[in-house]
Amino acid sequence: MSASRAAAQDRPYFDAAHETLEPGALRALQLERLRRVVARAYERSAAYRDLCRAADVAPGDIATPDDLRRLPLLEKAALRDAYPAGLRTCGLDEIIEVHSTSGTTGKPTPIWATRGDMDAWAERNARTMWMVGLRPGDLLQNCFGYGLPTSIGLQYGAQHAGIGVVPAGIGRHELLIDLIVDLGVTAVCTTPSYGLFLADKALERGIDLPRDSRLRVGIFGAEPWPESGRERLAAALGVDAFNEYGMGEFLGPGMAAECPVKRGMHVWSDHLLVECVDPETLEPVGDGERGELVWTSLTSESMAMIRYRSRDISSLTWEPCPCGRTHPRIGRITGRSDDALSIGGLIVFPSQIEEVLVRFDEFANNFCMVVELVDNLDRLTVQVEVRDLAGLTEEARETLAGRIAAGVKTAVGVTPRVELFDPFALPRMTSGQGKTACHRVDDRRPR
Ligand code: ZN
Repeated sequence: MSASRAAAQDRPYFDAAHETLEPGALRALQLERLRRVVARAYERSAAYRDLCRAADVAPGDIATPDDLRRLPLLEKAALRDAYPAGLRTCGLDEIIEVHSTSGTTGKPTPIWATRGDMDAWAERNARTMWMVGLRPGDLLQNCFGYGLPTSIGLQYGAQHAGIGVVPAGIGRHELLIDLIVDLGVTAVCTTPSYGLFLADKALERGIDLPRDSRLRVGIFGAEPWPESGRERLAAALGVDAFNEYGMGEFLGPGMAAECPVKRGMHVWSDHLLVECVDPETLEPVGDGERGELVWTSLTSESMAMIRYRSRDISSLTWEPCPCGRTHPRIGRITGRSDDALSIGGLIVFPSQIEEVLVRFDEFANNFCMVVELVDNLDRLTVQVEVRDLAGLTEEARETLAGRIAAGVKTAVGVTPRVELFDPFALPRMTSGQGKTACHRVDDRRPR
């Protein structure tokens, strides 16, 4: 390796100038870009212009960072209404790639991209790859779905940073495992559940990935995972596990990811502006407090994605990070604002229950929360699928239910009734009827 290449490999940041930009300068850059992107959207998208007019705001009104809040919030329904191109802010002659969200609840949302958008997408993902410690010479296997989903952004980012990619996709797990072992793959990106699945399937063939492969880094996203999952992923795959966040509406990966400090995910804030608001009042919450994330693309040339309500519950902090990056950090996604249940005035997120359940070896991946009004009081019942329930004595079942109830009480302050079920006995989808939420831990958030 030449001396200059070795020096390039040693640099701690992929783009130091932007990643460590002084916070005041970063905020100033955000305001400048916000004004530009709002003016562009207002001029080029009739649908966006209508939203602004309904909110009685025009681009010229955006003079200070606080003026951001005068702009209308963009709801998922507005994207559906604008289908397929109402929020597009450029001509088709500038578009070079189109992706689409899965459209499980209605029409899919097409995501348009210009050459400039593609370059920015690769740049943001390249920073992430560098941040988690990948360098030229590493080999990344991308085990996310290819095609319409946006996970190919991870590949573009790795390649932009000079890192080799195996575009493996998902399915044909025997082949995927062979590739990891035989090619000397050092990093994998996938969902946490699929990562664990691959490790299990490898073990069935006598392949212990931590021992038999060169894997050392794992990037996990597309579904929320609790902190307690980190060790499990590390042990199963032999990797240092990093959390990554992306939404299909913003081209998926490359929005936020963990640095080696692993206390939140840095948002690439020269490209994306994130707010954290109270989902009821829509007012900003304090630094580090729980709220819903609202996202704005500051550099999109192709779509008016301004103040989009993600429904993701997290937190946001501008506290300095020991890694030296100045970009603010979001916390883990701990729920969806439309999944939250109010129980006697307490807001409870399914993810809080999930955090408790995943600590039980007996837990078999699916649970339901049911809230009923009994004697004018909300009563929470947690229905839990349990591995090998038939093999448990009545006494063992009671003990298990009691331990789960105690865990839930500690986590959310409500003592639930706990009912145990066989695996696959509970419905697989959120019912949407009444105050019930059903959750399957390994099948949550397609992007
Ligand atoms: Zn950091």
